Amino acid sequence: RENPSSLILLFGATGDLAKRKLYPSLYNLFRKGNLSNRFAVVGVARRLKDDGEFRNWVRDSITTFGEKADNLEEFISHFYYQSHDVNDSESYKQLKELVDRLDHTYQLEGNRIFYLAMSPEFFGTVAEHLREDGLTNTNGFKRLVIEKPFGHDLASAIELNKRIRSAFKEDEVYRIDHYLGKEMVQNIEVIRFANAIFEPLWNNRYISNIQVTSSETLGVEERARYYDKSGAIRDMVQNHMLQIVSLLAMEPPIRLTTDEIRSEKVKVLRALRPVEGEAVHDYFVRGQYGEGIMNGSKVPAYRDEPNVPKDSNTETFVAGKFLIDNFRWAGVPFYIRTGKRMATKSTNIIVQFKDIPMNLYYKNGSTLNPNLLVIHVQPDEGITLHLNVKKTGEVLGTTPVKLNFSTKSIDGINTPEAYEKLLYDCLRGDATNFTHWDEVALSWRFVDNISEVWTNEQADFPNYAAGSMGPKAAEELLEKDGFFWWPVN
Ligand code: NAD
Repeated sequence: RENPSSLILLFGATGDLAKRKLYPSLYNLFRKGNLSNRFAVVGVARRLKDDGEFRNWVRDSITTFGEKADNLEEFISHFYYQSHDVNDSESYKQLKELVDRLDHTYQLEGNRIFYLAMSPEFFGTVAEHLREDGLTNTNGFKRLVIEKPFGHDLASAIELNKRIRSAFKEDEVYRIDHYLGKEMVQNIEVIRFANAIFEPLWNNRYISNIQVTSSETLGVEERARYYDKSGAIRDMVQNHMLQIVSLLAMEPPIRLTTDEIRSEKVKVLRALRPVEGEAVHDYFVRGQYGEGIMNGSKVPAYRDEPNVPKDSNTETFVAGKFLIDNFRWAGVPFYIRTGKRMATKSTNIIVQFKDIPMNLYYKNGSTLNPNLLVIHVQPDEGITLHLNVKKTGEVLGTTPVKLNFSTKSIDGINTPEAYEKLLYDCLRGDATNFTHWDEVALSWRFVDNISEVWTNEQADFPNYAAGSMGPKAAEELLEKDGFFWWPVN
């Protein structure tokens, strides 16, 4: 089947995301023949002058962040630029003229993807203008791709959704959660539903707990103005962490269609036990980094970063426990933790299986390690299964071994960047790896209860050193249940 033709209208064409991810990803699709020749990109921003300057910009992005190949100039000839003011109707009318012209030149059949890679405060305004000024009035498909964050709480998300839905139907809205584009996050489903040795054990009879860690070594960088109003729970937990939990916990869908998968994920979010009021302190831990030593040099505390208030109450770390109240998961804690300025950069999932009923190999206080299934999401991609085997040469001795699979070890396979896959999905009209409104709403409802408690209580920050794995309370969260965070490697 031929790849669909489409116009891609990119708002925020000079932004960091466009430069680092979107142009290189689009070019990869083009190089691999996954982008029809009938495509055009209109970059919309404020900074540049004309097509020539924009094309230089795109070329520079690809040579810096992507893989260059012979047909780069051909690719770049499909790019057009329009300087734009998001609040001005006149701007959209000019845009419409350009779009109509390109539609004709490239035979795009009226297909339009509107990609909003700009500050979230403009999402609603742009969507409304697209309708009012006639850009959504087309014979082909129209799709809205929208970056995070989708609101900063449930109320603002509802408001934003209303504005977007005035111009686009739910199945035309592609809410990006780039974690869902990651190879190993997509692999959760395959590991679970294509292996007879996991799915029968994937429940509260055989799994003792699940741990999801997403740690960064970077600090807040240049994002302080946004981040200080958000914090880790809104920036990471509401979207990425809860998405991973719902993929780990969902029932097998009856078919691998967008609707079926999403509806199973939604059921998980509906089954999440709400954590409110005083209980927040029992289930969630927040942290903020102080100064510390990383890679041999001193790094500043969060409160000493540029644009961060000296008394900031914002968390740069969250650890938490989710309970899913359904037949499959009753009693199995899902622990998550995420933060900045942690010791390692890693996203991984550890499934800890229950201990076997008795240890036949007991000797001098020896214990058997539980079986672990580790899914490495980034930077390594792969799975590790921890088993116990006989210790060679000993009668009763056992020793843990790891069965390893790493996608990096497959020759010649360079796993595609998340944005490449998500852009391709959107071009083909597959919304499975994007977030449905119901997921957004349920996640915010859960997270709002925690934010509310945290906002109203001044925390004793900083409470972890840059370069550590977070505050002590995050260890205690598991210890009081008789568990501990497994080291990643
Ligand atoms: P950015 O600040 O680097 O870029 C903003 C873009 O919007 C620029 O092209 C600018 O010209 C344009 N713009 C700003 N005001 C405008 C106006 N009034 N009219 C027209 N154009 C205007 O932002 P970014 O880092 O690229 O982020 C864009 C979006 O992507 C945000 O929603 C962000 O949360 C999301 N995101 C970014 C990253 C990333 O790695 N940078 C990762 C995930 C999500």
